[in-house]
Amino acid sequence: MTEITPLFSYTTCLKDVHHISSKECELLEKSGFLTVRDLLFYLPKRYEDRRRFDEFGALGQQKPVCLHVNVIDARTKFAGAKRRYTEVLVEEKGMVKTRFSCIWFNMPMIGKMLCAGHELVLFGTAKKFGKNLCMLHPDFEVVKDDAYHSIHLERIVPVYGGRLGISIRRLREIIWGIFEKLDFSPESDVYEFVPEQTQKEALNLLHFPDSMEQAASMKRRFALEECLGIQLNVGIRRRMVQAKHGFKTASKTALLKDLSEILPFELTAGQKQCIKEIFDDMRSPHVMNRLLQGDVGSGKTLVALCAMLLCVEHGFSSMMMAPTQILAEQHYQQFLRLLTPLGINVSLYTGDKRLDSHVGFKSDPRIIVGTHALLYAKDIEDQVGLVVIDEQHKFGVNQRASLIDRGELCPDVLVMTATPIPRTLTLTVYGDLDVSLLEQMPSGRGEMTTFVRPYSAMKKVVSFVKSQIDEGRQIYVVSPMIEGESKARSVAEDLAYWQKALPKYAVGLLHGKMSSEDKDQVMRDFKANNIQILVSTTVVEVGVDVPNSTVMIINDAERFGLAQLHQLRGRIGRGEHPSYCILVTASDEESEEWAKLKILEETRNGFDLAEKDLQIRGPGDVLGTSQSGLKDVSFGDWIGDIRLIQRAQFLANKILDEDPQLSSKKYRSLRSLLQGDCQKAVIN
Ligand code: ADP
Ligand code: MG
Repeated sequence: MTEITPLFSYTTCLKDVHHISSKECELLEKSGFLTVRDLLFYLPKRYEDRRRFDEFGALGQQKPVCLHVNVIDARTKFAGAKRRYTEVLVEEKGMVKTRFSCIWFNMPMIGKMLCAGHELVLFGTAKKFGKNLCMLHPDFEVVKDDAYHSIHLERIVPVYGGRLGISIRRLREIIWGIFEKLDFSPESDVYEFVPEQTQKEALNLLHFPDSMEQAASMKRRFALEECLGIQLNVGIRRRMVQAKHGFKTASKTALLKDLSEILPFELTAGQKQCIKEIFDDMRSPHVMNRLLQGDVGSGKTLVALCAMLLCVEHGFSSMMMAPTQILAEQHYQQFLRLLTPLGINVSLYTGDKRLDSHVGFKSDPRIIVGTHALLYAKDIEDQVGLVVIDEQHKFGVNQRASLIDRGELCPDVLVMTATPIPRTLTLTVYGDLDVSLLEQMPSGRGEMTTFVRPYSAMKKVVSFVKSQIDEGRQIYVVSPMIEGESKARSVAEDLAYWQKALPKYAVGLLHGKMSSEDKDQVMRDFKANNIQILVSTTVVEVGVDVPNSTVMIINDAERFGLAQLHQLRGRIGRGEHPSYCILVTASDEESEEWAKLKILEETRNGFDLAEKDLQIRGPGDVLGTSQSGLKDVSFGDWIGDIRLIQRAQFLANKILDEDPQLSSKKYRSLRSLLQGDCQKAVIN
């Protein structure tokens, strides 16, 4: 009788997998891989098509190629006193036997590993080294003529990314071996949303595809699965909000008419449209949960103010939360100016109690402007009909939730952001919100031009700045941080620099560690043009409004993301004069950083920038991981794929319509995809 070894399932422990040695098992466990499932979800970083190798001739193309070579010679050499490099001379197998060198700096291990006669698969990009083309630090694998040969050659092979202490080659064998003994029947606790093919079959093809197309299609399948998880969260949140009773405001708009009589300008058509969408929500018994998206300077504040007025007119208070003290104060001042003639009370509520005017919250309906402090303001509990969150991207999802969660009657919520969010992300991270777009800019704005400049051009920059100030304009200088780590220019240095360069003009300093009294004073001086050059950190990023400033100089610009740079430059170009954003960078003209900054020269549209930013940095960085909830995304490519997201949304809604609690046997496993708040909601 032959012994039947049981097949592996997802839950099989790696230590029970015979072809993994105990040493390897230990290493895997250290990296968090305990079960077969853990390892099978360790995804290939890329693939190499080893059925047909590239030719060295193709190396000139500046893109990575995959080559099959023999080692002719390997030696470690010295370059200067301390630097060592290993040079491995190789010869291509195949028809054209080109010889070239592979070079590794300070990795003498490689010199010991490789010697003449070895056969290698190389993956890398050609670079000029001295006069010759060679490969710098290529990935490589020694080809062995053993029983596992067929796993590594003459097929498409997966290449894994991490450093687990196990060679990629060996890892590939381990994973291959698991698939050989895997029980492919569906697991009872996995929701199979592609009925024709089980998740395990799909995983097998993801690791060992027959074609690059198949690899792509499997990636797509898992991306859809991952996306489904996100859409389930979104769907559940949306349902939670819909289940709440909201305020229903009357349709009176007398206050609005009064306001429009005071305003020095007409609302733009875009503003009117957004106001209409918001009012429709507010007048319905449902809770409003809306995102107002508009580029910097598009005039969102007024749209919000109109909504707040409607709320007050109906007899409820309304509050606006801003991300910084400066911004809260600015809104407060503006609202005071506009609303005092209308007889409406405005209050400020921040962490800085000296400035606050938080008296009489319980008396008349009023407009309350504040910072995070509002989150903890117990005394304005239940009379708030509308919550506006300015610059939503500065807050986390949870903060939004805690502002809104005010008991039985849920306030309407309007969140605003000037970070243009690519539509695909709106559907995911903000999928529980309806969206209003403010695309049109108020008229009468001067042109803005953006330049990228090296530090060596500072002299010219200074004389340009001087000419602008001579014409009466004002200047922002922004630096990445307060006190420099070794390399970063600190604002203090900048202050000294500009004071010395333009001694006739007043240079002011603004950063987050100053007391809000001092900050306020500096901002007031800048607004009054008592200060011509304002040197600051990114505290000027959001919302600050001084239309007379026409130049913004951003130091070490490469340290910022595109979206943030775009936000920053939104501080200028607010008046009638042409304006100039100068991105100063220490990176050289050939570098990726320089190319990234160039995008800002060419693109003024925030949405286009956001798409590009997303491609460059990934969703976590664009939105800040804390609030994106996307930090664990593994198939991140889908982030730009609107059709995939729509499909996932459709599936999620279908599932939730059928089984809102995900309590049936079929869908129960999906609960593991839910984030805390949603999990709580379905289990209750
Ligand atoms: P953001 O959308 O970046 O928050 P703001 O609301 O701060 O923009 O508006 C920027 C500037 O545009 C402010 O000075 C504001 O008074 C002005 N503004 C708003 N709406 C209009 C309009 N319809 N016409 C002219 N200027 C406007
Ligand atoms: Mg604003």
